[in-house]
Amino acid sequence: MSVFDHSEFDNHEHVAFYHDKEAGLSAIIAVHNTNLGPALGGCRMWPYINSSEALTDVLRLSKGMTYKSAMANLELGGGKSVIIGDPRKAKTPEMMRAMGRFVDSLGGKYFTAEDSGIAVTDLQAMAKESSYIAGVNARYHYNGEEADGNPAPSTAYGVFVGLRATVEYATGRSLEGVSVAIQGMGHVGYRLAKHLHNAGATLYVTDIYPEGVERAVREFGATAVAPEDIFGLDVDVIAPCALGAAINDESLPMLKAKVIAGAANNQLAREEMGELLREKGILYAPDYVINAGGVIDIFHQRMESSSNEALRDHLDNIGTTLKAIYARSDEEGKATNRVANTMAEERFNAKG
Ligand code: NAD
Repeated sequence: MSVFDHSEFDNHEHVAFYHDKEAGLSAIIAVHNTNLGPALGGCRMWPYINSSEALTDVLRLSKGMTYKSAMANLELGGGKSVIIGDPRKAKTPEMMRAMGRFVDSLGGKYFTAEDSGIAVTDLQAMAKESSYIAGVNARYHYNGEEADGNPAPSTAYGVFVGLRATVEYATGRSLEGVSVAIQGMGHVGYRLAKHLHNAGATLYVTDIYPEGVERAVREFGATAVAPEDIFGLDVDVIAPCALGAAINDESLPMLKAKVIAGAANNQLAREEMGELLREKGILYAPDYVINAGGVIDIFHQRMESSSNEALRDHLDNIGTTLKAIYARSDEEGKATNRVANTMAEERFNAKG
């Protein structure tokens, strides 16, 4: 299997393969770039069909983390790890400890955290073997509430701040009376709905499961919408908070909103969707900038000298960063996702 000729290889600094027969572990760590600091990125456990599929994923995701951390003003680089296997069937504490030894073998160049298929208990097992495991300490909450290690509250608050800044830039309005349609009433979507309701927005919500939707109707007076109707609504804002590729060839022609701002990763089915949104006069908040609250949270939880206020200030900064992206996008006549990529590259290359 070739790494240096791989289509997703982008001058990654370090790609390591690890096998522990006794523990049943086959894993890969990719460190994309450490110019700004040690690489941080979650560990994903997934039943990849083969190691080639796992390599593709880890190369792509680790690069994404370099861009996300750079735009979140973090002194961190980008990395990611993947474990090949079904988390519901193959996971054992011994395997997690072996993963901890793998992370440790990079000597602090890479810090791991939670991702799909990996829970806090798994990180705790890894932490028995390495001190380079993030997401096991819960110290701060942006709102002063008790911290429990779940980054979703910080992610949702960051998305709220970013959405507010985007609406302000696009329309000059506050959120009072602004209509927002949220796709996905999960950990982030529900909390975002709460912030928006408190700020006076009118909500339309959907999910493929009824519980979250019913709760939002009950608690925030939201209007329930069928999943297939969400993108065509005549609302001011669409907030994708479910899976990736929400903005695709099918949904794009339906859009009537002026703003796309939500938590989901990889919202654009293709990068060119950015130009198409711009042509339609829709302001798009680049996903990895607006949803960086989770990684910001993990960063602060590791610092003994941080505080609830410092975490909140850092999350508030997401709005400032987005406005800088929009101003440059207007100045240069370029799509916001392209401008975000350029700004991230300027930041991490400047330190190289
Ligand atoms: P979640 O699984 O708790 O919520 C996602 C919700 O979307 C679920 O309720 C699911 O039923 C619903 N859903 C799935 N497909 C749908 C569809 N077609 N139409 C309507 N609803 C649908 O996940 P989450 O933690 O709330 O994260 C939401 C998104 O934000 C994900 O894309 C995630 O990768 C991204 N994100 C999350 C965090 C975090 O801190 N949790 C951080 C950064 C990015």
